Amino acid sequence: MEKIKMQTPLVEMDGDEMTRILWQMIKEELLMPYVELNTEYYDLGLKKRDETDDQITVDAAEATKKYKVAVKCATITPNHARMDEYHLKKMWKSPNGTIRAILDGTVFRAPIVVKGIEPCVKNWKKPITIARHAYGDIYKNSEMYIDKPGKAELVFTGDDGEESRALIQEFKTPGVLMGMHNLDASVESFARSCFAYALDTNQDLWFGCKDTISKTYDARFKNIFQTIYEQEFKDKFEQAGLTYFYSLIDDIVARVMKAEGGFIWACKNYDGDVMSDMVSSAFGSLAMMTSVLVSPHGYYEYEAAHGTVQKHYYRHLKGEETSTNSVATIFAWSGALRKRGELDQNSELAAFADKLEKATIAVIEGGKMTKDLALITTLENPTVLNSRDFILAVKEELEKLL
Ligand code: NAP
Ligand code: MG
Repeated sequence: MEKIKMQTPLVEMDGDEMTRILWQMIKEELLMPYVELNTEYYDLGLKKRDETDDQITVDAAEATKKYKVAVKCATITPNHARMDEYHLKKMWKSPNGTIRAILDGTVFRAPIVVKGIEPCVKNWKKPITIARHAYGDIYKNSEMYIDKPGKAELVFTGDDGEESRALIQEFKTPGVLMGMHNLDASVESFARSCFAYALDTNQDLWFGCKDTISKTYDARFKNIFQTIYEQEFKDKFEQAGLTYFYSLIDDIVARVMKAEGGFIWACKNYDGDVMSDMVSSAFGSLAMMTSVLVSPHGYYEYEAAHGTVQKHYYRHLKGEETSTNSVATIFAWSGALRKRGELDQNSELAAFADKLEKATIAVIEGGKMTKDLALITTLENPTVLNSRDFILAVKEELEKLL
C-alpha cells in the first residue's frame, strides 16, 4: 500500500519517561509504515525544557496556533525530587498549564468504551464526556481563618475610588472565610468551546450549576451560556438535531446516573475536578480516556489523560518487562490525525485514524490487553501482553483493516 500523504504538518510534542518510550513505538509500528508523517517536532522532554529555559514549550504552543492541531505526550511537571533527579536550573511550570494559558480553552475528557471493560453504572452504554472549565473559582481564591469575633465583608474598590460592600458574616465564634472570582471572558470562551465541541462530535450538551443559591455568581455562568447559545449556536444545534440542556447541578448529577451516556457534561472548575474522577474511574481507568484541549479560536491539542507512568519507566530502565497501557496515547495520535484530515479534507487520513482506533479496540475485545485492564476485565482468561506486544497486536489488527 502507498503511504497516506499529509498536506499540512501537525505539531508533535514529545514527552517523558514510559510514555516517551510508548510514543516512539507507536510512531514506528503503527504510524510511519502507513502514513507519510508530516509533523513539526518539539521535544518537551524535561531535559530539553531545562536546556531551553522552557522556551520549547512556548514555541510548541505558538506552533499549535499556526497549524491548529497538536498531539502531546505526557510530560513531567517538576517538583523537588525532579530538580535533583534532572539537575534542573529551575522548577519549571507544568507544560500543560503553560500551553493552556497560551491557547486558552477547555479540556474535554471521554472514556474509551470497550466490551469487557464495563462501567460500574450498568445503564451507561455510551461515553460521558466531561468538559471542565479550567479557570478561577476556588482554584484562585483567598482564604482566612477567623479566630476572634468580628465582621467579615466583601469589599470591591473601583479604580474610580467607588466602593461596594456586602456583609458576609458577623463572627461571634471562630470560623473560616473565602473569597473567589471568575471572569466573563473566561466563562464565555468556556461556553463557546463546549457548544463548538458538541457540534463537532454531534452530542447534546448538559450544563449545571447552582443559580438558585448563588444568585449572582452561578447565575452569571447560567446566563452567559444561555446568551451564547441563543445568539451563536441555537440554529446550528437545531439543524443538527442536538439539545442544550441546563439544570441545577444536583439534578444533573441525578440524571447522569440514570442516563445511558452519549453527551457532554460541562462542569464548573470544582465540579469538573471531582466529577471527572468519578466518571473516569466508573468507566474503568485513566489509561482508557481521551483528552483534548479545544480552544475557542479553533486550535486542538490531543493528549493522554494519565502521566508519564514513572514506576514502569524505572522497571524498563532496569531491563525488566513492562505492561504499560498505550491506548490513551494511541488515541491522542488518532484524534490529532483525524482532525488534521478533517481540516485538510484529507479523508484518507481521517479514515486511517478511525481504523487505528478500531484495531486497538478489537485487540482488547479479543481478550488481549495490558495488565491494568486484565485486572478489571469481565472477559474470561485474558491474555496479558507486554508494552511492545500490545502495540504489535494492534498493528496486526490494523493491517487487516487497511
Ligand atoms: P501516572 O503516570 O498517571 O501513573 C500513576 C499510576 O497509574 C502508575 O504507577 C500506574 O499504576 C497507573 N497508570 C497510569 N497510566 C498508566 C498506563 N498508561 N498503563 C498502566 N498503568 C498506568 O501518575 P504519576 O506516577 O503520579 O506521575 C508521573 C509523572 O507524570 C509526574 O512527574 C507528573 O508530573 C506527570 N503527569 C503528567 C501529566 C500530563 O502530562 N498530562 C498528567 C499527570 C501526571 P501501577 O504502578 O499500579 O501499575
Ligand atoms: Mg481531581
